Order: sequence, then C-alpha cells, then structure tokens
Amino acid sequence: MNNTIKKVVVAGGGTAGWMAAASLSKLIGKNLEITLIESDEIPTVGVGEATIPPLILLHQLLDMDEKEFMKAVHGTFKLGISFENWRNVNEDYIHSFGYTGKDCWAANFLHFWLKGLNEGISKDYGVYCTELIAAQQNKFAVLQSGALNYAYHIDAGRYAALLRKVAEEHGATRQEGRIDSVATNENTGFIESVTLASGQRIEGDLFIDCTGFRGLLIEQTLHTGYDDWSHWLPCDSAVAVQTRSVGPPIPYTRSIARDAGWQWRIPLQSRVGNGLVFCSRYMSDDEAIQTILNNVEGETINDPRVIKFRTGQRRKHWNKNCVAMGLASGFIEPLESTSIHLIQKAVTRLIQNFPFEGIHESEIKEFNTQMDADTENIRDFIILHYHVTNREDTRFWRHCKNMSIPDSLQHRIDLFKETGRVFKSPNDLFVENSWIQVMLGQGLMPKQYHTIVDEMSDEELRKFMQGAELSVQRTVSQLPSHQAFIDHYCKAD
Ligand code: FAD
Repeated sequence: MNNTIKKVVVAGGGTAGWMAAASLSKLIGKNLEITLIESDEIPTVGVGEATIPPLILLHQLLDMDEKEFMKAVHGTFKLGISFENWRNVNEDYIHSFGYTGKDCWAANFLHFWLKGLNEGISKDYGVYCTELIAAQQNKFAVLQSGALNYAYHIDAGRYAALLRKVAEEHGATRQEGRIDSVATNENTGFIESVTLASGQRIEGDLFIDCTGFRGLLIEQTLHTGYDDWSHWLPCDSAVAVQTRSVGPPIPYTRSIARDAGWQWRIPLQSRVGNGLVFCSRYMSDDEAIQTILNNVEGETINDPRVIKFRTGQRRKHWNKNCVAMGLASGFIEPLESTSIHLIQKAVTRLIQNFPFEGIHESEIKEFNTQMDADTENIRDFIILHYHVTNREDTRFWRHCKNMSIPDSLQHRIDLFKETGRVFKSPNDLFVENSWIQVMLGQGLMPKQYHTIVDEMSDEELRKFMQGAELSVQRTVSQLPSHQAFIDHYCKAD
C-alpha cells in the first residue's frame, strides 16, 4: 500500500485533461489538491467533435446547463451517424441512437420485422425508429418525455475552455509549462514529480497522463507497452480541415467511405469539421489532402493538418500511480465517436474507486480489467463496419473484407447470421439496436427469425408494424427543424 492520495497532477490540457480536472475537482475535490499542467507550445490534437449520448450524464454530474453548454461550444445536436458507401458504393444507412420498433416481451422487434419482411408487411428497418426518421427529415427537439435519445457535435477547443472554467471554479489550478522530465522513486517505480522547462518541480501522489499520443508518463516514463490493433484497424492517419457552413446543420454526423478510409463531416453552428481517416499503406498524405479538399463543401477556414496514430491501447490504463486517459491511453479510431466517451468512463471509474487511502494492486487490476473490456467491445463494433462489406473495389477494401477478425466479433456475426440474435454483455457500450442497425446496414441478414413470432397472425403482425411506424411518424411530425430548435434554445452569440 502507498501513502494517502492528496495531490493529483493532471499532465495535459486537451479534452482529456480538462474533463479529468473538472470532474475530479467538482465531484471529489474537497480534500484534494489538483494541478493541471499544459503547455502552450504543444497544441492539442484539435479534433474530437462528435459525441455519444452518455456525455449528457457527465454534464448532469457537473451541473452543466445544457443551453449554456451548447452556446459555449457552438454545438449542434446529433441523432446518429449516416454511413455512406460502406456496404456498397452509393448505398447508405443510419446508425441512430434510438430504439427501433416497439417493445415486446417475446422477442426483439427485429424478429417481428424479419417475419414481416418475408410476408411483404415490413418496410425499411429505419422506418420504425424515431431518431432515425427525425435525422432524415432534419428535425430535432429536446423532449421533456425523453423520447429522443441524442448527443452533441461540439467545438473541441471551446469545450476544453468550458471544462477549464468548471475545474478552476472548483479549486483546480492550471500550471502553464512544458514538462521536461519525470522523476520516479527508485524502489517503487512510482512517479514522484515532474519538472517543467522553467525548472519548477511539481510533486504529486497520483498522476493522470493526458499528454495525448506521446503518453509522456504512462509510456515514455513507465514503459507500459501498447497492444497494437492495426491488423484489425489498419487506418493510421487522418487529415482534418474546417470549412464554413453552407446551409443549416444536419442533426447527425456523416461518415463517407472513400478508397482507402472514410471521411467525416461534423456540423457545428457556424462551421463544419471535416476530415479523412486513411491507411497510409494505400494512400499518401498528399492524396489524402487532395481527396478531402475535393470533397468538402464551403470555403476552408484553416490549412489541412495531417495527424498520425496507431490503433490500439496501452497494456495498462492504470500503471503504478499513473492513470492514462484520452489519447495517452490508446486510440481505437473515431468512426463511432467513442474516444471522449472512454475518457468519461475512465474518469468516472476512477472517481468511484478513488484511492484516498492509498493505491492497492487489486484495484489497479480491476480498473484495468474493466477498461479493457470497454475498449475491446468498442473495438469489435468498429471492426464490424470495415469487415462486413461487399466492397472489393480497392486494395484497402479488399484487405478489410478479407482480414481476420477477433473471435469475439466472429461469434457475434455468426450468432446474428444463424439466429438473428444479438446480446449486450455487461461492458458493452453499444446496445442491441446499435449492433442490429450496423449489421443490417453492412449487409448481414439473419437466416431465420425467432419462431415465437409465429404466435401472431399476419393480421396482428400487420397492425403491430403499422402501429410502430405510426408512433414514429406522430412524434417526428411534431418536431421543429433542427435549425429552428437551435435558434430558440441555444444559439451561439
Ligand atoms: P490532446 O488533445 O493531444 O492534448 C494533449 C495535451 O497534453 C495538450 O494540452 C498538450 O499541451 C499537453 N502536453 C503534451 N506534452 C506535454 C508536455 N511535455 N508538457 C506539458 N503539456 C504537454 N473523439 C471523439 O469522441 N469523437 C470524435 O469525433 C473524434 N474524432 C477524432 C478524429 C481524429 C482524427 C482523432 C485523431 C481523434 C478523434 N477523437 C475523437 C479523439 C479525441 O480527439 C480525443 O480523445 C480528445 O481530443 C482527447 O485528446 P487528449 O486530451 O487525450 O490529447
């Protein structure tokens, strides 16, 4: 056992650093001294602008008013992601955050839909999902009933600034300066202090490494090691560029598959974040820059910037007295906007198990086991998008279609194909409906439906499906346009 934890040092002030500092100071900061060190000389990664619904829970914990937050980050609402060209060129589908169809104790709605498809009763699967139809019709509102499940598109720089305000209001202090060296205890290997370029030494009991891909503490100091997943997730580069908006923002992210990767479009209130994630084995940086510039709408605001990464995760998210968060802990790639969520997971998990009385090996182990499970589940979900495709038109897509995949994912695919069943294991972030939407969207079709559905007559099934469709239509017809809602609810100054 180590000494009690009083001084927490957060190294790095990107989204991860400020999320950690804001959450720790607001929720358990009373008896802690929290210092965040960031360097104006080292820029943040500057991307990471699409989120998923659980972020709302973090904001509730931080007492963050939604309207003020949205104004501050020039935010728009997000109901899901449109995947274009992923299954075949010129075909698309939406993975929405909603629930599809109606609840029925007997079987998942999918099975009723499958039987209805055989009988010519069912329409497109998306017709039965409110969020999906609202997204397609460019409509949105925050409903008191909670009937719409949503997330946000945010300006990353503004979000970090907002979190900084929360952190400082709750007693965290910011220290400007570049960390030049890190000192460890020669017996325990624990980190004792960091020294800035100015010569200032900052001591701590617990260090949170949020220094981005470089992993200054977790890797460069503690040599924790990295599980490389590039054999499953081969993209290793991105080029990002911002453009001015040319029309009202849509309430969803666009993910458009290209020859050697995919392009994102994230609409904010006054600009659009664009980027191309690509595999350098099949596309050069220059080709990528040209591809993105050929495929953006609106005037570019900044020069395209290339970012290099390696997909995978640290062998330990928590090692000795250092917890890595954000890019310092690993990177799956941004296809389903899960990176900020994993920061949230790490910080809330740390808070729930905070080692006030000293660090125990067993809690490190438990923390790492849970983080691994979270990360590996997301990894499998992302690989699914690449691997289950009809595309074989470029070397990149042939590679993805034919590559080996984790056994855990193969099992999910086999189960779905054979029986139409999906499941949610305890650490799964994505619920059954997410897996179903992406599996169907990518072209997997179950061979059978659950026979319990045959208890329903065709007439009953027709009414059941019609009822589900009508309920979606009724809700969506009452929604204002996304732009109109933003204008009245949270328009940025
Ligand atoms: P960074 O933003 O890199 O911050 C690192 C910080 O460490 C900086 O403040 C820097 O000054 C500081 N620092 C580094 N070295 C030192 C030093 N020696 N001394 C002092 N300070 C130091 N996530 C999502 O959830 N949704 C998305 O849509 C999404 N899209 C992405 C697209 C791409 C192409 C990439 C690469 C990532 C994307 N992510 C996305 C991930 C997301 O960007 C990150 O999870 C998030 O921005 C957190 O980054 P970070 O704070 O870990 O690192």
